[in-house]
Amino acid sequence: MRPKIVAGNWKMNGDLVFVQDYVASFKKYWNEKRLDQFSDLGVIIVPPAILIASVQENIKAVSVNGQLEFAGQNVSEYSSGAYTGEISAAMLKDFGCRWSLVGHSERRALFGDQSSVIVEKIKQLLAEGLRPILCLGETLEEREQGKAEICVKSQLDSVLNSFSVADFSKLVIAYEPVWAIGTGKTASPEEAQEMHKFIRSVVASKSSDLAESIIVLYGGSVNSGNAESLFRQNDIDGALVGGASLKPEEFLEICAQCGRSALS
Ligand code: PEP
Repeated sequence: MRPKIVAGNWKMNGDLVFVQDYVASFKKYWNEKRLDQFSDLGVIIVPPAILIASVQENIKAVSVNGQLEFAGQNVSEYSSGAYTGEISAAMLKDFGCRWSLVGHSERRALFGDQSSVIVEKIKQLLAEGLRPILCLGETLEEREQGKAEICVKSQLDSVLNSFSVADFSKLVIAYEPVWAIGTGKTASPEEAQEMHKFIRSVVASKSSDLAESIIVLYGGSVNSGNAESLFRQNDIDGALVGGASLKPEEFLEICAQCGRSALS
């Protein structure tokens, strides 16, 4: 069985005071919900880069059994040099991250992260031994025009065709329909399952073993009320959570539901 992952993307939210409160609640609910029992579940916190050190410093006292990891929200396509404002893969690694998001729809739409840039970012991460979480998904317009699969396939193919099977196997894919991100609208479990299955079929054109083993997360307005039915789907291995990850009790309830889905 594939391991489960729930990642919480804080986006550009939080400050030092928030981190203190967050970690205190996180510890309380981690213990209350007995997250330690889910050994197949990985939980990844994705704070703004400037807060990563503070979250790590504060969370040290939380007993989390190595299940808890950290990710950057973005990474530079360059390794070092005159790139003001950028953060390199080596810097993320230095600050204890094992992961980074790549190609989040907000990066694609607002900051020009096109496929060629995303490929370079993934190369940087892999060179530092970090694991990319590749986000992809269609817009509402593309879905309404019946082009959701074409869009997802094209986003996926551009990365799939740029890496060997061994390198691509380090990636986790997060299917995030753009129309479901931060909107309160989520794909139905059936819609999400259909796209996750399709994503595996695209990966299978490169390697059937890889298609079977690659972790595919769902993202888009996931909360504790809709997560369980999503996690019951065969091809959904966890979630990338935005807004709901800012509330530790809610986030860890989603994590617990994911952990339980691995047991059943
Ligand atoms: C996200 O930012 O990746 C996301 C899925 O956000 P939300 O859960 O708020 O829709």
